[in-house]
Amino acid sequence: MFEQIPVDIGLVHEGERVRKNDMQVELGGPAEPEKCEIVLVRPVDAITDGDISIVGPDIGSMEEGKHYPLGILVEIAGAKVEQDLEGVIERRIHEYSNYIEGFMHLNQRYDIWIRLSKKSFKKGLNSFKYIGQVMLELFRNELPILEKIQITFITDPEKLKLLYREALERYESRDARARGLLDRDVDVFYGCALCQSFAPTHICVITPQRYANCGAISWFDGRAAAGIDPKGPIYEIVKDECLDEEKGEYTGVNESAKKRSMGEINRVYLYSAFGYPHTSCGCFEGIAFYIPEADGFGIVLRGFRDITVNGLAFSTMADSTAGGRQVDGFHGISIEYMRSARFLHADGGYERVVWMPAETRERLKDFIPPSVYPAIATEKDVKTIPELKSFLINLNHPVVQKWKSDETAARATADRTAVLSAGDIPITAGGYRIILKNAKITAEKVIILPVRAPPPGGGEHRGAQKK
Ligand code: SF4
Repeated sequence: MFEQIPVDIGLVHEGERVRKNDMQVELGGPAEPEKCEIVLVRPVDAITDGDISIVGPDIGSMEEGKHYPLGILVEIAGAKVEQDLEGVIERRIHEYSNYIEGFMHLNQRYDIWIRLSKKSFKKGLNSFKYIGQVMLELFRNELPILEKIQITFITDPEKLKLLYREALERYESRDARARGLLDRDVDVFYGCALCQSFAPTHICVITPQRYANCGAISWFDGRAAAGIDPKGPIYEIVKDECLDEEKGEYTGVNESAKKRSMGEINRVYLYSAFGYPHTSCGCFEGIAFYIPEADGFGIVLRGFRDITVNGLAFSTMADSTAGGRQVDGFHGISIEYMRSARFLHADGGYERVVWMPAETRERLKDFIPPSVYPAIATEKDVKTIPELKSFLINLNHPVVQKWKSDETAARATADRTAVLSAGDIPITAGGYRIILKNAKITAEKVIILPVRAPPPGGGEHRGAQKK
C-alpha cells in the first residue's frame, strides 16, 4: 500500500519522539502563533477525490532546523458522512501521521506541533505529498464511509490566516453544541484510547460535562465515533452505578478503566484532582496544578510561554502530569472542561482556582462565577506565592475562608498528630521495590535517621540514631 513512500509506515512508529537536534524542520508548535488542522464535511461534488495540494513552500525547500506555520485541511464527503463526525475523523490525523517513520505529530486543533527527523528527510521524505498519501490511504482503509477525500497543506502564512479563522469558528460551534447536556441525562459515557501509544495506561472518559483532555472530542463526537466503528479506539462505557456524585465515580467507568489500562487504573474520580483523578496522556490543553501554600489551583494552558506563579513553566509541569498516571494535584484538562459546571467540582470548582494567565481568565470570563473572577490572580497581578497570598486576602478570595477554617481544625489536632501526604512513596525491602501510590500517612511521631555509606572495606554501618 505504501510502496511509493520513502520511509517505513506502521504502528511501530507511533509514540516516536523527534528531538530538537534530530529534526529537519518543525511545523506549527509553540513558536508559531497560527497553526491548525481541521476536517470539514463538504458536498460530494465539491471534492476532487484523492487530491493533495500544497499551498506555500513544501518541505524540500524549508531550511534545516527552522520552524514554519502549517494548516492541514482534510475535506470529506459521503452519503453517511455527517458533520458530527468531523471532530473524531480530525483526531485520526494525529494517529495516522504518527505511523510515518520520523514524523512526530503532537496535540490537536490550533495547537498542532510536528517535527520531521533528519533521518527520514535524508531517506527522501521531502514533500507533504507523501504525508498526504499516507493519510489518504489510511482514511480510506479504516473509514470506508468516506466516499471522497482531499487534503490541503498550507504553509503560506497569508493563506493560512483564512483557514485558521474558519477553523476557530468551527471548533467553537462544535464545542457549543455539547454544552447544556448533563451527565445525569445520559446512560452512557465514551472512552478514548487513541493516546495509548504515548501513554499505555491512559484512557479519556468523555461525558457530557467532561470534554476530552485534548479538547477535540465531545460526548456527541464520542457517540458518533462509537456508532460508525464500535470496535475502534472510541467506545461506549455504560455508566452503571454512581458511587459518588460529588467526585463523579461510576462502577462502569472503574471497570472500563481497569480493563483498558491492563489493571493499572482501578478507580477514576471524574471531577477531582485528588485521590483517583482522571489520568492524562500528553495531549491535554492545559494543567490544573495544586499550589499547597494557597490550598488552591493554578491553571496554565499550553500556549503560555512564561513561568507560572509557582516558578514552573507549562513544559516542566507537563512532565509531572503526563504518562497515564494518577498524580495528586497535577491534572490535565481541556478548555471546554473549564466551561463545565462540573469543573473540579469535588475540589471546589472555581472557588478553589487562585491563579491563571490573564488571557485565559478573559477567555473563560463567561464561565467563571462573577463573585470569584476578580479574585483570581494573573501574571499581571502577582509573580510569587507570597504575593499571591496577599492578593487573595486583599480580594477576599473564597479560599481564604477555607484557610481560616482549616487553621482552626489544624490547631485542634496539632498536639496529637503529624500528617504526611505524598504521591508515590518508594520502599525497598527484600530485594523488591514497593511503591505506595497516593499514600496518606498519619503518624504520632516522625523519626529522621541519617543513612551513611558503608565504610571503606565494606560492612554495614548506620549513623548514630537521633530522635
Ligand atoms: S487526549 Fe483523550 S480523547 Fe483526545 S485523542 Fe487522546 S485519548 Fe483520545
